[in-house]
Amino acid sequence: MIIIKTPEEVAKMRKAGRVVAQAFEILAEMIRPGVRTLDLDRAVEEFFKKVGAVPSFKGYHGFPASICASVNEVVVHGIPGELMLVEGDIIGIDIGAIVEGYHGDAARTFAVGQISEEAQRLLTVTREALNRGIQQAVVGNRMSDISHAIQSHAEAAGFSVVRDFVGHGIGRNMHEAPQVPNYGEPGRGVRLKSGMTLAIEPMVNAGGYNVEILADDWTVVTVDGTLSAHFEHTVAITEHGPEVLTV
Ligand code: MG
Repeated sequence: MIIIKTPEEVAKMRKAGRVVAQAFEILAEMIRPGVRTLDLDRAVEEFFKKVGAVPSFKGYHGFPASICASVNEVVVHGIPGELMLVEGDIIGIDIGAIVEGYHGDAARTFAVGQISEEAQRLLTVTREALNRGIQQAVVGNRMSDISHAIQSHAEAAGFSVVRDFVGHGIGRNMHEAPQVPNYGEPGRGVRLKSGMTLAIEPMVNAGGYNVEILADDWTVVTVDGTLSAHFEHTVAITEHGPEVLTV
C-alpha cells in the first residue's frame, strides 16, 4: 500500500532529511586517506545523539552500524570497520535518520584524495542520473519514468545500473511501497501523486550490473570487481514538482 503523506508529515521528513544532510557535511570534512570507515560511523552516531535523531540503519535486520560505508567495488551495505581509506578510493556512504518518527535516507559517493578520471566520471554520471530521476518525480508521470531516466543516462555513459537493489517509498518506515527501480521502459508502474515520498537511489557500476553478497550477509559487491557508485535523495512529490528533503 502506498502511503500518501500530509504536509505535516512531509514537514517531519524534511527535518529528518536535514539531519542526514548535516551528517554528510561532517563526513565531507573527514573523508581523506588514513581515516577508517569506523571513524566515519562514530562521527555520525555522535552527531545524531547530539541532535536527538535515531539512526535508521542500526539494528535494522541486525545491521551493526549507523551508516553504510561502501568502498570501491562495494555497491551498498558495506559495514564500517577498521578498513582505512587510501588515496584513489571512492566511498559510498548511506545514511538514514529518524526524527519525530519519520525517516530521511540519502547516499553520496566521495572521492578519497585524487581519483582516476574514470572513477570521477562514474561519480559525476551517477549523481546526474539521480538528478534526472528526480526531475521525473512529478504528478501524472509513472514510476518507470524515473527508472528510465536513470538507466538511459547511466548507460549512455557506458555504465550499467544495478537491478537487484532498488529505491523505495519512505515515511514512518524506512522501506515502504512502492519500489523505485533504476531501470525499465518508460510509462509503466504506478501513477505518481502529490504526497508520495520516495527514496530514489541509483547504484551504477563501471562494468556489468551483476552483484553478489559477501559472506557477512550484508556487503554487496560487483561480480566483475569494477567500481560502483551510489547517490540517493529522499524526495516528496508535490503539486509544484519534486522537493528534495535530504538537503
Ligand atoms: Mg534507501
